[in-house]
Amino acid sequence: MSREPEIRIDGLSHSYDAREGPLLALQDIALEVPRGRFVGLVGPSGCGKSSLLMMLAGLVTPSQGRITVAGQPVAGPAPERIGVVFQDPSLLPWRSALDNVAFPLKLRGMARAEREARAAELLELVGLRGFETRYPHELSGGMKQRVAIARGFCQDPPVLLMDEPFAALDEQTRMTLGDELLRIWDAHRKTVVFVTHGLTEAVYLCDEVVVLSGRPGRILERVEIDLPRPRTWEVMASERFGQLRERIWRLIRTQP
Ligand code: ADP
Ligand code: MG
Repeated sequence: MSREPEIRIDGLSHSYDAREGPLLALQDIALEVPRGRFVGLVGPSGCGKSSLLMMLAGLVTPSQGRITVAGQPVAGPAPERIGVVFQDPSLLPWRSALDNVAFPLKLRGMARAEREARAAELLELVGLRGFETRYPHELSGGMKQRVAIARGFCQDPPVLLMDEPFAALDEQTRMTLGDELLRIWDAHRKTVVFVTHGLTEAVYLCDEVVVLSGRPGRILERVEIDLPRPRTWEVMASERFGQLRERIWRLIRTQP
């Protein structure tokens, strides 16, 4: 069995060409993520979390450095290898929930019956059984986000990138979806990179939380979340949970 980490980032720096000149967004990022790990990415607003995710997804090319996923360089979007779920569910308004989830499979040329069966299975997994024929405008924010998560899982990519997927939701929905995500992750053991500004959410979900500095984003610390799994809500009241959250908060608070 290969011991190559699922995700490897080496010497990555990135500048944008901003109006005022080059803007250094990320500096000297090196990170290895073993297969099946659930990794959080936190840091002050504007520190480059989304940029890093876009680079992992092959949507932005880093100005320097190298990213490999499963040993292969990332050289453009590859949704069958690397799935992405953004904060804004960006569903196609003229397609039903089922068709939104099945759409990436259609693009891949999968036969209709097969892709619809797969999409229905995933909708059930995220708790949307019975809503298959609904259109996005008939769904609540939380339901739309579930559809987007099902779509992210639809191609069954070994790596799933999530950029603040629950940020727009109320606390209760966020917690519920977090639990659902953990359940799905537990069943499929994908490698997950999860960007969030919610520290409680980060500690609750992750095996490890990578803390970035203020811009330009550098890795300040990788905090191992040594809480038992499966996680249940009671863990949040534990002393260890509080210590880990506090540790991350301290690191972020001292950033500009
Ligand atoms: P985060 O997700 O951590 O809030 P981003 O990755 O969105 O941070 O942005 C990092 C920095 O790069 C910010 O200062 C942002 O303004 C800048 N930035 C992001 N995208 C672009 C772009 N396309 N062109 C110029 N600057 C950008
Ligand atoms: Mg962002």
